[in-house]
Amino acid sequence: MIDSIAELGEMRVSLARAGQQTVLVPTMGALHAGHLSLIDFARKSVGESGFVMVSIFVNPIQFDKANDLEKYPRPLEDDLEKCRSVGVDVVFLPTAESMYHQDRSVLVNENQLSRRLCGASRPGHFDGVCTVVLKLFLLTGCVKAVFGKKDFQQLAIIRRMVRDLNLPVEILEHPTFRETDGLAMSSRNVRLNADARMNAPQIYRALQKAARLEDHSLMVDQMKQDLSRCEGIEIDYVDLVDAENLQPAFDLERDAILAVAVFFGDVRLIDHITIPAKKR
Ligand code: AMP
Repeated sequence: MIDSIAELGEMRVSLARAGQQTVLVPTMGALHAGHLSLIDFARKSVGESGFVMVSIFVNPIQFDKANDLEKYPRPLEDDLEKCRSVGVDVVFLPTAESMYHQDRSVLVNENQLSRRLCGASRPGHFDGVCTVVLKLFLLTGCVKAVFGKKDFQQLAIIRRMVRDLNLPVEILEHPTFRETDGLAMSSRNVRLNADARMNAPQIYRALQKAARLEDHSLMVDQMKQDLSRCEGIEIDYVDLVDAENLQPAFDLERDAILAVAVFFGDVRLIDHITIPAKKR
């Protein structure tokens, strides 16, 4: 485990000297099987001789609500044990004070893909994500980084940042890992009360049902109707967007994504399903 940026710098230099490739899995901790599947995939991507690094950092600048940041679960010992059990080479655990100067004045701003969906409901969120991910790339010197498709908007924005800033990091993606009842695994799931946990699988069921509709223009309304019948849910958004540029998908000439964000009380959950392009 490393918590100092200086120590990480020394490790980066010695790994580079030894010609060892680092793959990074950035997380905010409270690790679950979804994170572990990313770590497993990371190991496969660099092989036994590569170096698998996991960062655990609850990045304060990507939270738009103080309450959400404060209540974010932080089971550190459990996380470290999980990392050990899957053969992670090092866990980077920086403090907020070491990552951000009090008078910091430079942020990475993406202003197209982040306009809709979570970007619209969480102002500044993706600036915070891009900034921390760029810092982690630079600090770790990773050549590859693994992200979950669960956060498909985040993934699209990071790919765009890598493209637009010519970052020498290969972005790898891994599918969403789900509980047996279909609920997408999330560190926030532990904050659901018993009723909300029982009802939350309806999110993915509604996505699957809407995805089966012949007429894609009905999908969003169908989702909203189904979710409005689900007790305790407040819809943040439901949207059908192009899978690559995240703009509204009016036709299905290319793959689209039906995406949803809901609240159970103050717990915000997201999920999505891919709607394949219509064959012509
Ligand atoms: P987080 O700790 O929530 O910031 O997530 C860290 C990484 O794990 C991100 O790349 C997420 O997309 C990914 N991730 C989170 N939940 C899942 C899941 N259920 N399946 C696959 N990847 C996930």
